[in-house]
Amino acid sequence: MIRKILALLLAVLLLPSFAAGEVVVTSFYPIWLLALNLADGVEGLEVRNLAAPDTGCLHDYQLQTADMKVLAEADLFLVNGAGMESYLGMVYDAFPELPVAEASQGIPLLAGTDALSIGESGAEEEEEEVNAHIWLSAANAARMAENMTAAMAERFPAAAETIRRNGAELSARLEALDLELRDGLSNLSSRDIVTFHEAFPYFAAAYDLHVAAVVKREPGETLTPAQLARLTEVIRALGNPPLFVEPQYEDLSARALAAETGAPVYTLDPVVTGPEADVPLDYYETVMRQNMATLREALGAQ
Ligand SMILES: [Zn+2]
Repeated sequence: MIRKILALLLAVLLLPSFAAGEVVVTSFYPIWLLALNLADGVEGLEVRNLAAPDTGCLHDYQLQTADMKVLAEADLFLVNGAGMESYLGMVYDAFPELPVAEASQGIPLLAGTDALSIGESGAEEEEEEVNAHIWLSAANAARMAENMTAAMAERFPAAAETIRRNGAELSARLEALDLELRDGLSNLSSRDIVTFHEAFPYFAAAYDLHVAAVVKREPGETLTPAQLARLTEVIRALGNPPLFVEPQYEDLSARALAAETGAPVYTLDPVVTGPEADVPLDYYETVMRQNMATLREALGAQ
């Protein structure tokens, strides 16, 4: 009897820890999308996203009490890195035992764009040291998926096989998307774009576009008359290239600039927001293909 109980006890102890349920937490939408792919079909592994799906980029994001509660239950925290999560120091202090993996590991980082940037003060603002929007090159997204695969497989060894298989599939899809984007954006009559957020330098570098100007501003705020006048001058001098707004941000400034210059306005989605329920696992790819189609229309695909 005793022997039987011991055997049973041992069997329970040797069960994969998955029976208890494990939680991987992601910092924001693009990382969440990748993690959902990696955890697909892994039983007992829950993927939770910290920032709400309509948050957008995490610039100046402050951790909420609810976020701390989610992190308290995390077995692994997957972040973008490259400075996107400026609150990471607080996480290390509050949860010294929590493994944190940066998806940006090993990816060459771009400095703040050298394109003209016009900020709230009307003066040309000093750029951040590095640009954090790495996921907008599909080749980078593939490397991020590889980094996240390694971190998840190490942390959840019972599911490592499935996670690695998912990771290989995801990376292959993203590499294929990268080739498709290169090809689709290879023959354009113009390559100048003006954006309203510094999200697209990695995309531009990967697919050979030129970010001629970035209009930096906070969501919901409009340009002062002086800023509008200065930007109008700059955009006219560039020959009125298309203006690209993002669905996450108000585009009143873009409309005003378009009215002044006659430059057309289009939408590019940096995939920082999206559906929360029943999100298709290829949502990133779908949005990137839409971006490609928009660029081909705006820049005159041949
Ligand atoms: Zn951003």
